[in-house]
Amino acid sequence: MQTLQFLDQEQVRRLPSTSAASRASALLTIDLDAIAENYRFLQEQARSAICAAVVKADAYGLGAGEIAPALIRAGCQHFFVAHLEEGIALRRILGAGAAIAVLHGPLAGTEADFIIHDLVPVLNSLDQISRWAATAMPGGTRLPAILQVDTGMARFGLSEADVDVLIDNHQQLDALDLRLVMSHLACADEPDHPANAMQLALFQQMGRLLPCRRMSLAASSGIFLGPEYHFKLVRPGAALYGIAPQADRPNPMRPVVRLQGKVVQVRDVPANTPVGYGHTARTTSPSRLATVAVGYADGFVRSLSGRGGAWFNGSHLPILGRVSMDSIILDATALPAGSLLPGALVDLIDPGQDLDALARKAGTIGYELLTSLGSRYHRQYIHS
Ligand SMILES: *Cc1c(COP(=O)(O)O)cnc(C)c1O
Repeated sequence: MQTLQFLDQEQVRRLPSTSAASRASALLTIDLDAIAENYRFLQEQARSAICAAVVKADAYGLGAGEIAPALIRAGCQHFFVAHLEEGIALRRILGAGAAIAVLHGPLAGTEADFIIHDLVPVLNSLDQISRWAATAMPGGTRLPAILQVDTGMARFGLSEADVDVLIDNHQQLDALDLRLVMSHLACADEPDHPANAMQLALFQQMGRLLPCRRMSLAASSGIFLGPEYHFKLVRPGAALYGIAPQADRPNPMRPVVRLQGKVVQVRDVPANTPVGYGHTARTTSPSRLATVAVGYADGFVRSLSGRGGAWFNGSHLPILGRVSMDSIILDATALPAGSLLPGALVDLIDPGQDLDALARKAGTIGYELLTSLGSRYHRQYIHS
């Protein structure tokens, strides 16, 4: 269908144009000042350590292209990503200078890419170590590396037996410019979990065997376990983006994200009207329903069907029925007629319904909600 064939060039030129923000069906606002403040707060908590920033998965879905430079302005000089490709993209964003470490280390054949893009691999296995050492040896230069040891997660890093093998292999160790020995805590968001102290003790023990005194154990939650967990460098991700570092304590971080969806349609319906796919909900009295343009394709996960809600002018509007791909249906009966109109924005994530609270309703964690946010939002970054 070609609409334009009915209009001449002059008529088309006179049509009013809109901004991306006004066209958008939903807005995602990311507060870079709050991220910078969270960074400084975490650095203050771990005063004796260097505070790095984890910006994997496009800075937890919020946009590494904006966030990493904001973190540099806040004083951050050390970054972690998970994949090599993320490291290459981040190096392009940051230019020369800041240190970028790649958590997954070099997969076979990718060693040269680390050198070309000035990325430090986290070496997680004897195989990765021997390939990285072999890359270094011909030129006689030592190559920078971070060594990960597994202290109780069975995910990444050398076992105790692997460490024994490594320390007998002087030739390999001599090829490495060891910047850091690191490990990762499995249960740090539960301060009383016995695994924390066990991992700490094993990390200290393994660290004594290795020829590098610079060590790193804590991510966001680990920072709040106390100074003995801080070592030389801490590696927060989630807390920078406002996620609560400890499950059962008040969240000390500043909220970073506001998510607003636009109302597309408002309708008044009688009692006993079935609502949405599968007719899983039904109105119990005459009701006012508002259809909002955010759905599971936008990361507003389907498990929020009949569970979450939105806020408008201080009123809570519950989700009725299932979350669709592109929309949700809100019960707006509590609002006076005419107060909620198509085009209005309702709040889905904001200080009144923070990320962690919404995640709990969805049966997941803030990490997963953030990294699931879709690409259809109009994103705006605010900073002073
Ligand atoms: C993701 C990750 C982090 C950051 O964890 P948060 O809980 O988001 O602070 C730190 N270290 C490693 C090894 C990670 O995989």
